[in-house]
Amino acid sequence: MAKSEEIISPLQFYKGVGPVKANALLSCGISTSEDLIRYLPRTYIDRSPVYSLQSLSVRLMNKMSFEEFSSVANFSVKNEATIMAKIVEKRMHVFGKSKKVLNLKIMDHSRVGATITFWNYVDFYNKKFEIGDEILLSGKPELDKYQNISFNHPEIEVILPDDELLSGDGRILPVYSMSERLTKAQFTQKSIRDLIFSVLERETGNQVDSLPDYILEKYKLPDIRTALWNLHFPKNLNEVELAKKRMKFEEIFYFEIFLAGKQKKNIVNENAPEINAKSQLARKLYDNLPFALTSDQKKVIREITNDLGTGKPMNRLLQGDVGSGKTIVALLSMLVAIDSGYQVAMAAPTEILAEQHFHTISKQLEGFDLKIVQLIGGQKKKLRNQILEEIQTGKAQIIIGTHALFEDSVYYHKLGLTVIDEQHRFGVAQRANMKELGRRSLENLQVPHILVMSATPIPRTLSMTVYGELDVSIISEKPKNRIPIITKIAYESELEFSYDFIRNEIAKGHQAFIVYPLVEDSEKLELKSAMTFYEKLKADIFPDLKVGILHGQMLWYEKEDTMIAFKNKTYDILVATTVIEVGIDIPSASVIMIENAERFGLSALHQLRGRVGRSDIQSYCILATQDKFKYEINKKSADENTQKSVIIRLKAMCDTEDGFKISEIDLKLRGPGDVLGTRQSGLPDFKYLDITSDGEIISQARKEAFSIIDKDFYLKEPENAIIKKNYLVYYKEKNYFGVA
Ligand code: ADP
Ligand code: MG
Repeated sequence: MAKSEEIISPLQFYKGVGPVKANALLSCGISTSEDLIRYLPRTYIDRSPVYSLQSLSVRLMNKMSFEEFSSVANFSVKNEATIMAKIVEKRMHVFGKSKKVLNLKIMDHSRVGATITFWNYVDFYNKKFEIGDEILLSGKPELDKYQNISFNHPEIEVILPDDELLSGDGRILPVYSMSERLTKAQFTQKSIRDLIFSVLERETGNQVDSLPDYILEKYKLPDIRTALWNLHFPKNLNEVELAKKRMKFEEIFYFEIFLAGKQKKNIVNENAPEINAKSQLARKLYDNLPFALTSDQKKVIREITNDLGTGKPMNRLLQGDVGSGKTIVALLSMLVAIDSGYQVAMAAPTEILAEQHFHTISKQLEGFDLKIVQLIGGQKKKLRNQILEEIQTGKAQIIIGTHALFEDSVYYHKLGLTVIDEQHRFGVAQRANMKELGRRSLENLQVPHILVMSATPIPRTLSMTVYGELDVSIISEKPKNRIPIITKIAYESELEFSYDFIRNEIAKGHQAFIVYPLVEDSEKLELKSAMTFYEKLKADIFPDLKVGILHGQMLWYEKEDTMIAFKNKTYDILVATTVIEVGIDIPSASVIMIENAERFGLSALHQLRGRVGRSDIQSYCILATQDKFKYEINKKSADENTQKSVIIRLKAMCDTEDGFKISEIDLKLRGPGDVLGTRQSGLPDFKYLDITSDGEIISQARKEAFSIIDKDFYLKEPENAIIKKNYLVYYKEKNYFGVA
């Protein structure tokens, strides 16, 4: 985007553009003709089958699906209709001192009317629209209580008489986003359309295709020229779909080429310790387990031990919902590596999770004669030095810790396998870091095997893109003894009931978590309110029970003591902040009550709920929230406009325990950047691709890219010359793959 108004773009030399318009285009990031032809329509208007207000009204009254007409008139925005009509009446209502509302009455050729209401920027719209204007409107139609059609703040385009000209033969009219700057510079839909038309006429001849013919043919994709023309001036909407598919395919294809290259590079260039699957230690633990492994757990262990034996580094993601039993899979794999003479490390994102792993694993391996150490930040220097030495000399065989494991000051000794638990809490960088620390500890520049685990199931399309260069193992079945968790919403004014419920559970010998939200940024501030809440629970609500507290500001050994006390049932109830969000395993806890549940995102709620239901006892999740949400949540079918994200989240939690479903909803609500944390997601900014819905295109492109790289790693074949060239463009010029 332009920093200064003086910059002049080559576009100003197009007929009818000039410096003012060129600058307005610049403000939209359009500085070259190439940018302009990639400024794609926001939507299209298919004019022959535009719905009349009459048919719209029939459909609405019969509650016919919106998609039927949205798919014809406006496929990109669901639940919207596009109509053409004339403004026949304009009315401004003034309420009280300053509240104004603007109503437009419109009517179309079917002689049916509708009302448009503007609540905001009323004066602006009042000036913009005149009685007699012909308009194109897209928006979500609703029936008011008198069965009249109404629209709230729809998108409206005034049709100028000569608008019809350009699309003479085509029935489809492209509609472009109009920023304020563009409007101020006197751009109209028509003039943008004309400009793009002439640029396309001049430029498409020069467009060199960025995908080789054989791919276009194989996937029946239009070439770039056809695609660009059809995106702007299609003859029908099918052409638009195909053209879009082509743009999306290209975008994800180059990303997949990148991932495939990364994976192949590991395989070709790197070697890793060859580890024998036969292991006395693993056998011993396996035989003594108090439960039988699920078949998914066994399958994953086989996949891992296979990898370990190849002499090539394993880079594997183990994905399994909360409570599916990933830890034992990791531990068995670690024992296999130890038996072959290697050191192993396991990283967890929080101190209390690292401690939990340390304690559970130490307990499980009692009598195994293995040296297990714990490395976390904040340990006393003397202790730390001693541990570091045990690591360096190889005395320590299992190292469990936090981010401290990735530090340069840690010298491992023949590190054969690293497990990273709750991978989504770490960045991509840490994995790379671990690889180098491992290399330093091994002979012949070998690298360690890496197993990353994630309890946040992300939709398949997303994991294919994000964890693209990893092999994926999935645990989809939970241990057989599990009973579905019952999730209920509790409103502020009815909390007594929930507290009684918790008391009852404790009477049965179970335990409870009560989670209090802390916004991370202001943790210090809010800690006060958490403490007040805790004091109140302890003194007024549960004076007869033992209530503990756990929060992020405590010292690590205080946290450790508290967790141990809770595990040993010294406490009945643990009041905690989100420090317990991931990984914590207290099988006898049967209730988790989440205060101010509306403040949590879906994935956090799901993770928190995963703290219960980890054994064969019936567990409960109570989502405490404000009374004001009660009405909306109880509505049977809150429509999309009123359905705020809070309501969707709380309802989703009550409706399903399936982490994949939850993450899909989460992805729709927040988008991939936020779901994964943009910084660490390593995903490029896709312009055309929507990873929440383009799963099929992603898998096609991925398969193609991986097979190409497999056969022609250096892209030397003449048929792949185009790929090589464009890959470099994506890689260098567009900085598409970020730091990765
Ligand atoms: P997560 O996948 O969330 O990390 P954990 O590995 O912490 O789950 O396991 C959750 C609980 O289930 C632990 O208490 C563990 O001992 C237990 N567990 C693991 N596998 C099984 C199984 N096959 N049958 C019964 N319980 C199991
Ligand atoms: Mg876990």
